[in-house]
Amino acid sequence: MLSVQDVKKQYNHTTALNGVSLDIPSSICFGLVGPNGAGKSTLIKILASVIQDYEGTVRYERMETGQMKNEVGYVPQEICLEPTLSALDNLYFFGRLYGLRGKKLKSRAQIVLQDIGLEEHGKDKVLTFSGGMKRRLNIGCALMHNPNIIIMDEPTVGIDPQSRKYIFQMIEDLKRRACTIVYASHYMEEVEQLCDEIAMMDNGYIVEQGNIKDILRKYTYPSVFVRGVDCLPKDIEQYCRVETRNGGYLVRAVNPLEVMAKILNYSKENQGQINQLELVQPRLEDVFFTLTGSQLRD
Ligand code: ADP
Repeated sequence: MLSVQDVKKQYNHTTALNGVSLDIPSSICFGLVGPNGAGKSTLIKILASVIQDYEGTVRYERMETGQMKNEVGYVPQEICLEPTLSALDNLYFFGRLYGLRGKKLKSRAQIVLQDIGLEEHGKDKVLTFSGGMKRRLNIGCALMHNPNIIIMDEPTVGIDPQSRKYIFQMIEDLKRRACTIVYASHYMEEVEQLCDEIAMMDNGYIVEQGNIKDILRKYTYPSVFVRGVDCLPKDIEQYCRVETRNGGYLVRAVNPLEVMAKILNYSKENQGQINQLELVQPRLEDVFFTLTGSQLRD
């Protein structure tokens, strides 16, 4: 269990973290989401011991951040590679930082190279790599010392869909190997797909945290989308929130299946026609805007 207790961080006049507390269970993918300036990168840098002057405590099992170096692999938002060196030499460099030497270093680099899908490119210089290859190698460097916790800050920015899919598979594999992953991203659909639990941050606070399904249930209802009908049954219009969308109606309802049945019956009774009728599951993005608003954050 990775535990964050009442962490505060001030940069001159800016309060980046305002008393953040989190418990991150082992062997899960934990998502960190929030608008720009919410404090995600600051929290991640504290977890990775990159920032060491902060108030509060961060513990992993019995260790505090200063003692956690070998437990944590940090994948920074910026690509942190030496472009004139080969993929293998970059992996060796990071392995040596964590004390790997000789045969151990070489065999670990070969394993990591395979895990990141670059076994054919070990000797190629990084400056010849695509964005996706660099991102994968950036992750590989953080895996060299076989850490238990992997902290990733926006690891899929600017990459092709194949590399993104590959990174997702890597994350699933890491989870199977009992690693804990902390994953900060702007992409709600990524977080929904990958993460078991999340924390939503805004202005240096955690505004919500927990299991994604529970959070969705707490803030949203499924909706019913219907297209092709001239109008809806009167009681639906009276008791549900109805919006017009994409040439049809989106009905938000606590009991969506009942709403669907009513629409079907109404249409049959009136010999009407329905082109489309479907259940729309709520999305994390809806909760995100509910909790953080839609005002631009630059
Ligand atoms: P996020 O990753 O969610 O975008 P950050 O942790 O980068 O948020 O930033 C949180 C707040 O701290 C922002 O207001 C940002 O401008 C400020 N901040 C971040 N890093 C620094 C820094 N090195 N010096 C001064 N202010 C900073």
